[in-house]
Amino acid sequence: MCNDHHGLEQARNLAAAAGSPLNRRLFLGGAAAAAVGGFALLTAGPAAAATSQNGWPASTTLPLSTLTVGAVTFPQGVRSGAPHTILGYVARRFNNEVETLRKGECWGYNFRTISGSSSYSNHASGTAIDVNAPEHFLGASGTFSAAQVRAIRSILAACDGVVRWGGDYSTRKDEMHFELNRGPSDPAVAALARKLGGSSSTPAPAPTSPTWRVVRRGQQGYYVVALQRLLRQHGRTLTVDGVFGSGTEAQVIGFQRSRGLVADGIVGAKTWTALQVTRQEGSRGHAVFGIQHCVSVKGFRTTQDGIFGPGTKSVVIAFQRSKGLAADGVVGPRTWAALVA
Ligand SMILES: [Zn+2]
Repeated sequence: MCNDHHGLEQARNLAAAAGSPLNRRLFLGGAAAAAVGGFALLTAGPAAAATSQNGWPASTTLPLSTLTVGAVTFPQGVRSGAPHTILGYVARRFNNEVETLRKGECWGYNFRTISGSSSYSNHASGTAIDVNAPEHFLGASGTFSAAQVRAIRSILAACDGVVRWGGDYSTRKDEMHFELNRGPSDPAVAALARKLGGSSSTPAPAPTSPTWRVVRRGQQGYYVVALQRLLRQHGRTLTVDGVFGSGTEAQVIGFQRSRGLVADGIVGAKTWTALQVTRQEGSRGHAVFGIQHCVSVKGFRTTQDGIFGPGTKSVVIAFQRSKGLAADGVVGPRTWAALVA
């Protein structure tokens, strides 16, 4: 767990920039919290008026939602609504693009004050997460490679200034730490949550059709393996080598003709939809090999034996959670589309 010394830095920044009503309120809130004193009072007393450094209510009775990404469930979750959507997005992309999250090394909501201060940590409002804490410990800098930092920058850029990384603190770094740095009434928070597919206050909206990767001759990779396995599942004869050559193309065209699809050899949404088959615990065969290959490549390792057993089911559930899909362990069109994405 980070010690959130940076909350103090944030308070100073807010004091310096106390031009806006939000910033003034935040700073006064911090000062009031400091005035009432120590940790015992904060945990024992009424917390209704308290806010953490970023202006979100800090209390022992917050609405919290479970946050599970990959193999990790963040203890106590994070604040429901927009913070859950936004921090979940950050954690999923971190897990997929920066570093696999590790069990027991990630933290979310925690009702506590900042170390060395009586102000509330942003963890106390459920609006901050720590990821792989032991490797990126408080005060250390340079714990990520240049490529990892580029990936973190890409995630932050997608968050439109709403998320701040502890590695960007000007004084003592906290590279494990990501937090919302806008208050609950800032319209940028709700706008970002909507953009990321959640709502500012309610669960995700009605699902739309899955988006499928378009695959054609000349490509290679795990998604071509999945394609070749699905073609085999439909009784077509070809080598499963992950390379989309002329042999694979001929089989795609044959499959498309058999289904009355445009026979162009290009695998888009219509062809994928016709190819995919629902698979679940107890299933066996080529499609299961394809599922096991894709989840393994994406960091959810499982035995690739073509048998959909309990182990495959658990990694499928973990994969579904990481993508914000219904985590039921059943591989249908949405999960297939995410597997080959
Ligand atoms: Zn933290």
